[in-house]
Amino acid sequence: MDTVRAAAPQLAGLVPYDPKYLPAEALLSANESPTDIPPAVREQVRAALAQLELNRYPDPLANGLRDAIAAANGLRREQVLVGNGGDELLFDLALAWGGPGRAFLNLPPTFSVYAANARLTGTRVVDVARTAGYAIDEEAVLARVARGDIDFVVVTSPNNPTGSCAPLGFIERLLQATDALVVVDEAYCEFAGATALPLLEAHENLALLRTFSKAYALAGVRLGYILAHEGVVSELAKVRQPYSVDAVSQAIGRVVFENRAAFQPAIDAIVAERGRVTAALAAMDGVGPYPSDANWVLFRLEGAGGATAAATAAAAWEYLYDQGVLVRDFSSAFMLEGCLRATIGTSEQNDALLAALERFLESA
Ligand SMILES: *Cc1c(COP(=O)(O)O)cnc(C)c1O
Repeated sequence: MDTVRAAAPQLAGLVPYDPKYLPAEALLSANESPTDIPPAVREQVRAALAQLELNRYPDPLANGLRDAIAAANGLRREQVLVGNGGDELLFDLALAWGGPGRAFLNLPPTFSVYAANARLTGTRVVDVARTAGYAIDEEAVLARVARGDIDFVVVTSPNNPTGSCAPLGFIERLLQATDALVVVDEAYCEFAGATALPLLEAHENLALLRTFSKAYALAGVRLGYILAHEGVVSELAKVRQPYSVDAVSQAIGRVVFENRAAFQPAIDAIVAERGRVTAALAAMDGVGPYPSDANWVLFRLEGAGGATAAATAAAAWEYLYDQGVLVRDFSSAFMLEGCLRATIGTSEQNDALLAALERFLESA
């Protein structure tokens, strides 16, 4: 054959996920930690890796790490599932709760991976858009699930890319209103100091998603986990790749999780810088930052010199990049027209962002 038949029809029109990484002095586009793991923790990682037998398959379910995570959250091993990043677990959720004839409730604008996973698994996507200020349209969501056809929903808290947490009272009302699986994506909860964990005991339809990629500075390692009832975990265990969490990741994850208190100063510094950056953006003419509970700030640029907000924000993105500051461009995304998202970096990186944006506004 000199041709190949078409791939599965649900792939038509899909584009592979592209984080749009580019080299820059200040990498403020991917919500990573600006600093690597503390040197003392790095030393323990080195020692743990030296013990590994790389010729052996890893523990498929990462039980050592599961036990540590379970104990820290007052849960049992059977209520925890570890994955190759939160992203793998999000895909497993779509495989296990979605599929042809099933429906996923999405609350855009939000993390684009959820809708992409739904499309890949042949799951119908039902959108209930957020309000103009990016709050969840609570009554519309409750009315939609009341129709009974939604199989799972993801509530992102804090929501990426808009920044604020979902009210706990709403999550509780949603859990009571539906038997759909309610996934609360808490990838950034360490920066918010808030979690829906207290609701888990009473609600079998709740699953919390967490990651080591953000507050625990391990984006390069690929580790995430789910906290849920045993029945939910055992369904997800059916669809997961048996050895997706390799031995190296498991060993690093155990060391980092045991030493998680050592990450608190860096988390506190990011929260303090988030306040400073938000205030500085709010003080600039033509820039509107949205309140954030996470490790970034989303801000909207007003149209300048007769250009639209989208065109002005796209020009600002270019200008910042030329000045060595890479932020995430949402300037023409649905409901985010004119917006850029800047991850909170070191104070020097944040200063570079603010100074470059000031220069852009003067020139625009
Ligand atoms: C970063 C992120 C995740 C998980 O990322 P992984 O690196 O795959 O663990 C999940 N949800 C949201 C909203 C995120 O921003």
